Amino acid sequence: MSSFKAFVLEQHLNIQTCQIKEFEDYALPPGDVTVAVEYSSLNYKDGLAVTGTGKIIRQFPMVPGIDLAGTVLQSADARYKDGDRVLITGWGIGERSWGGYTQKNRVKADWLVPLPDGINTRQAMAIGTAGFTAMLCVMALEHQGVKPGDDVVVTGAGGGVGSVAVAVLAKLGYRVVASTGRSETHGYLRSLGAGDVIDRSIFNNPSGKPMDAERWHGAVDSVGGATLATLIRTMKYGGSIAACGLAGGADVSTTVFPFILRAINLLGVDSVYTPPPKRREAWRRLTLDLPAHKLEQMTRVISLGEIERFSREILAGKVQGRIVVDVNA
Ligand code: NDP
Repeated sequence: MSSFKAFVLEQHLNIQTCQIKEFEDYALPPGDVTVAVEYSSLNYKDGLAVTGTGKIIRQFPMVPGIDLAGTVLQSADARYKDGDRVLITGWGIGERSWGGYTQKNRVKADWLVPLPDGINTRQAMAIGTAGFTAMLCVMALEHQGVKPGDDVVVTGAGGGVGSVAVAVLAKLGYRVVASTGRSETHGYLRSLGAGDVIDRSIFNNPSGKPMDAERWHGAVDSVGGATLATLIRTMKYGGSIAACGLAGGADVSTTVFPFILRAINLLGVDSVYTPPPKRREAWRRLTLDLPAHKLEQMTRVISLGEIERFSREILAGKVQGRIVVDVNA
């Protein structure tokens, strides 16, 4: 394959456009390893990038897609050889350098993770950046001593990070409470392992007090804003929140009281620049602690031609679970 297809964002006179274009190999960006991409995925950040809603793309033209999985075609780095199965999440792909919405890419070897044993490239991208981030959140809670049997709430539970977090925490034996704004996802969230499902509106009514009744040992929060502020007020003594997202807002209004009187922990989680050893550990854990049938149940596959439509849907909070992009469909 010397020519290949990619979904490209361009900007003219401050107006962003997208289209699927045909490229030749000489158009590939500089890098050590050429990858035949098989799958990418659609994450909240991709929705921001493709619709031009957030300032995600740093230069145009750009192939978006913040993750990819595929097979090495050519490598100038001794760690990889033709035929190796690999994946990338983060490192600025789909923002500063070409991302996953292409049939071919050339990347830095340092960004690659060998595909973990026991999963294929489609499953790797069903997990994708969102699922990888969910596992980083679980690992952050474990590190703080949150343990199976504890009450853990997952906000934005119907989305990508939330769905994977619910399935993993349930498999590990936590008492998972899923918070969602969509009543139609209740059955889905219970089938992923949530013991209880609550309406997210309870997180949107500030009591005006610095602390409220203690409810949670742990929390995985991909919503931020007023939701995170309520979590901070309602954690049990010594409880921990893994904060990774802002689907509901970036500003958080709080006091120091829950920190100094209840010793709660607010743990920041970033997936983009996670160091390689922790990446490999998170992927190893995902192969063990995320049941394959639950991953399948939360996954929908789309083509390059459907990215624009689903980007609008993910920003509108209408996507359930994970979306895989089959770049060859
Ligand atoms: P999704 O859109 O798949 O999930 C977000 C979920 O949040 C929605 O499904 C919805 O869940 C809930 N939600 C959406 N809008 C609102 C709102 N206004 N108020 C309250 N809840 C809302 O996105 P992802 O799972 O891919 O990403 C979630 C967040 O995590 C994003 O902010 C993303 O940028 C961030 N993220 C951060 C990473 C990091 O490295 N720190 C990596 C990956 C993601 P429901 O309908 O069930 O309520």
